[in-house]
Amino acid sequence: MPGVTDSHVHLLGEGLNRLSLDLSVCDSRESFRTALSTFASTKQGQWVTGRGWDQNRLGFTPDRHFLDSIVPNQPVVLKRVCGHVVAANSVALQIAGLSEHVPPVPGGVIHKDEQGPTGILEEHATDLVLRHVPAPDSSLMYDALASAIEYAYSCGITAVHTDDLNDVGSYHELWRIYDRVTSSHPLRVQLHYHIKNAADLAEYVAIKKELDRHPLLSPGAAKMFLDGSLGARTAALQQDYTDEKGNKGVLILSRQELAEIAMLAEQEGIQLALHAIGDAAVEQALDVLGSVGRQDDNTPRRLPHRLIHCQVMAPGQVERMAEQGLVGEFQPVFLQTDKDWVASRLGHERLQFSYCWRDMWNQGVVLTGGSDAPVEDMNPWWGIHTAVTRCDNENNPAVGWDRDQSLMLEQALQAFTANSARLTGWNTGQVRQGFRADLAYYESFSRTQLWENSPSALYIDGDLVWKK
Ligand SMILES: [Zn+2]
Repeated sequence: MPGVTDSHVHLLGEGLNRLSLDLSVCDSRESFRTALSTFASTKQGQWVTGRGWDQNRLGFTPDRHFLDSIVPNQPVVLKRVCGHVVAANSVALQIAGLSEHVPPVPGGVIHKDEQGPTGILEEHATDLVLRHVPAPDSSLMYDALASAIEYAYSCGITAVHTDDLNDVGSYHELWRIYDRVTSSHPLRVQLHYHIKNAADLAEYVAIKKELDRHPLLSPGAAKMFLDGSLGARTAALQQDYTDEKGNKGVLILSRQELAEIAMLAEQEGIQLALHAIGDAAVEQALDVLGSVGRQDDNTPRRLPHRLIHCQVMAPGQVERMAEQGLVGEFQPVFLQTDKDWVASRLGHERLQFSYCWRDMWNQGVVLTGGSDAPVEDMNPWWGIHTAVTRCDNENNPAVGWDRDQSLMLEQALQAFTANSARLTGWNTGQVRQGFRADLAYYESFSRTQLWENSPSALYIDGDLVWKK
């Protein structure tokens, strides 16, 4: 079949995660102690970074006293599985200047006991320590990306749309890193540019003109956030969160600011990718993009704008999205994680207009599949499985929907191949004459355990790049 194009990853973030210590498998003091001390011994004199701990699984919270007993002389900072909480040891707290007198941080929590900070920091307070972790050097970046690409191969992925600007800062530098890595690890990569305002977009317009054509890399959409997340109750909703009266989440931009960006994008022929999870954010996008049309025939053509996630939709929004020709960039694997708590955030009625992939497909919204790795696993078969069955990998169903919102297997496959490839201009994503031979070979294929499918070989432009 055609190789998968993941329309939403952070490939460098995925790679950096893969090189840091993975604590998600630890379920006891002993397993945690062994994993941390083994990893720390390979990082003499350096920061020890890790992720994935979960106190529910461990049976305890790894505070600084516990971390100091394992690694007393190097700074240690370990992200919780959700990424919103970190555990730091005493050396890390010292480097960050966190003593018992540290003032409170707005939007964050610094846990303390009689001896001062415990090393457990939440939300905005995590930055106090994380900002002291040195940025990875270029050889580490190279290794990180190479390992993420190896994993992508093993899942059948031949192309990604990735947003990594936050990890590197300079787009030219990011381009150079990808140029170097893809010469040894071929992968088609569309590199998004993360923007916060119209000035950032103007900068991207200028940068795009300086880039040479590249066989595997292409400049992507201008990506920006309109709201937050459902998990943190910051996704912007039109009505209050069902489990928090008075809270409607956060709209990041004013209508005026978004309109300015949309006008410039239209003039310059730039595709926008707008993160919009709640129906108020979707409404803002529909309202503004719908009012900024093509100026005249001289305006450059562009790829269709996309709404990222679009998880909660108010009645009528799906139809408007289709009319406006907006692409729905969806991550079905999110449902595996969200299904157990999302009904309490939204309530039964609003749930009927949420994660409504079949409605979107039937109304004519072009859906493109993605994983949002490292937020979720990059394996597209997990997402395809969830899109088709509305179940997690243990076949536990998402309940609460009055109508079936699953996709047909062929539709889910199209979303993860032809549809997401169409947003790149590479002529890939279909096994068809005139298309590039970016292909994945499967020796066997399971229709009932979709998440188990994995390829035996991968080809890019007809060349074998990976074999099991
Ligand atoms: Zn993302």
